[in-house]
Amino acid sequence: MLNHENEQLSVENACARIAGELEPVTASESVDIRDALSRVLAQDIFAPFDVPPHTNSAMDGYAIIGADLLSGSSHALTADFMVIGTAWAGRPYKGTVRTGQAVQIMTGAVMPSGADMVLMQEHVQRDAETIRLHPEHAAKYTERGRNVRNAGEDLAKGALVLPAGRRIVPADLGLLASLGIAGVEVRRRLRVAFFCTGDELRNVGEPLEEGSIYDSNRYTLYGMLARLGVEIDDLGVVADRPDAIREIFIRASDSADVVITTGGVSVGEADYVKAVLQELGQVHFWKIAMKPGHPLAFGRIGAAQFFGLPGNPVAVMVSFYQFVQFALARMAGEIDPQHAPTQRAVCLSRLSKKTGRTEFVRGVLESDPDGKLTVQKTGSQGSGILHSMSLANCFIILPEERENVEPGDLVTVQAFFGMVR
Ligand code: AMP
Ligand code: MG
Repeated sequence: MLNHENEQLSVENACARIAGELEPVTASESVDIRDALSRVLAQDIFAPFDVPPHTNSAMDGYAIIGADLLSGSSHALTADFMVIGTAWAGRPYKGTVRTGQAVQIMTGAVMPSGADMVLMQEHVQRDAETIRLHPEHAAKYTERGRNVRNAGEDLAKGALVLPAGRRIVPADLGLLASLGIAGVEVRRRLRVAFFCTGDELRNVGEPLEEGSIYDSNRYTLYGMLARLGVEIDDLGVVADRPDAIREIFIRASDSADVVITTGGVSVGEADYVKAVLQELGQVHFWKIAMKPGHPLAFGRIGAAQFFGLPGNPVAVMVSFYQFVQFALARMAGEIDPQHAPTQRAVCLSRLSKKTGRTEFVRGVLESDPDGKLTVQKTGSQGSGILHSMSLANCFIILPEERENVEPGDLVTVQAFFGMVR
């Protein structure tokens, strides 16, 4: 890889170039389905049988032969049905329903043979061992199959249920259980090591001398990574000294799939990350046409992918969400990872904007009583003002060519909840 010191890349190009370098991890392990939550499937899952396995009732009521009602005579609608037994969920009725007969049935119980329609309990009048459909509900029972769930209507035996590369969500756990599958093969977790650079940084719990600040990036990185279910190796704070940075880089890249750093990648005198990286690995230093998050280093040290994020706390989060999260999804083996979706909203704030760079403004997205989306910025937008992230629930994304935004203009927003899959 070559370095392109003065290259100014668009956000889209940077994403594409990062994506082009990444390989998914290949190792996998078997886990119980509960432990598969948020993991990436390493195998296709096929339905071993029909779901539901039996045709069953969708309601509490009475199973009958639909033709008894559908035959159309006014007599049929007012006919009495003789109740001949009961079908419970898990305890089927063994006999056969014949014309003029009904079996009381519970939701989920297997449909007795012969029956093909269920009259809802609330729609009939029961009198000792007979039932009769209330005439005002007759219009609801004009086809067979009413209130009946067919075997295989959810999934047919042999159907692909979940593809390899799927990140498992709670619904998938239930689906796997419904198929009787107790364990699955998932890709191994990604190992992500990170550290923060800066002589001014102190750990929480230490006193703050004049000129020093608490390291917050370690905590936001921890939080963002923890929600992605990766193995985290927090290597702490390292001073702005080439030997210290070299040592920690070697340690970090030894076992991690991905190394993330913050700070030290711009052009200040104490920005040694760049020099050390050039010595140890192959790394691009990019100036990205975005705000915040202008400098970004991306490359490889040994077998590890490397992301050198800027030092400013908001820039760390913006560049993590725009570049790193997507990259981690791809490396974890997710098929076709998507960036968080965007939508359009009416901006209520005035935003000053220069052309030539993408800006990520922290916003609060709301829907008004008519369901129309509005957004406003969260106060001051300096790239060190972490409070602006804490208050926000979305990014307002202003593309390169965009100029100032006036109240009432439509803007593109990316809601945060969509960012952690
Ligand atoms: P740098 O990119 O190293 O020049 O840092 C840019 C700004 O971000 C400086 O004001 C740093 O003090 C601040 N900064 C860097 N790292 C951290 C951190 N881990 N926590 C909080 N602020 C930081
Ligand atoms: Mg620094």
